[in-house]
Amino acid sequence: MKNTQPPIDNLQAQDATQHGHEIFMAEAIIEAQKAATLMEVPVGAVVVLNGEIIGRGFNQPISSHDPCAHAEVMALRDAAKRIENYRLVDADLYVTVEPCTMCSGAIVHARIKRVIFAALEPKAGVVCSQMEAFKQPYFNHEVEVISGILEEQSVKIIQDFFKMRRAQKKQLKKEAREALLKGAPE
Ligand SMILES: [Zn+2]
Repeated sequence: MKNTQPPIDNLQAQDATQHGHEIFMAEAIIEAQKAATLMEVPVGAVVVLNGEIIGRGFNQPISSHDPCAHAEVMALRDAAKRIENYRLVDADLYVTVEPCTMCSGAIVHARIKRVIFAALEPKAGVVCSQMEAFKQPYFNHEVEVISGILEEQSVKIIQDFFKMRRAQKKQLKKEAREALLKGAPE
């Protein structure tokens, strides 16, 4: 019978790689939690070069009055400043949610080697949800993609955030209604 199992060494290598991805994705999740603290949609990212984190970022467009302040862009800027180079050749970007159009463009400009993301973004994600941005022939740089690393945790952070925001809105409405019925204070 033909043996279809990969050799043990290969399996161990795969496990080590998976574990390495999870370690860096956990760091991206820490960044996402910072965004949630600021009441921003919780997305986080880290840039890794030679096994070391060289840039970190979290989503913060509202609090920093910057439409471009997505987690990926913040992490790319941080990394580029650190190594004093706008090209992040051979670096990997870990992000908790599938990148949008703007971030995919920035990732190509930065020459990121691999994008590793956790959760799909069915509405605005363009890596595989709405389109395959990194496979467009007009881009002169190829980006490898790995998805689904710590997906459950990343999805949960987003779900918890929106649940909390819905509850807050409900509470505000309730308070406004009560104030109206009582007569607003002077
Ligand atoms: Zn984005």
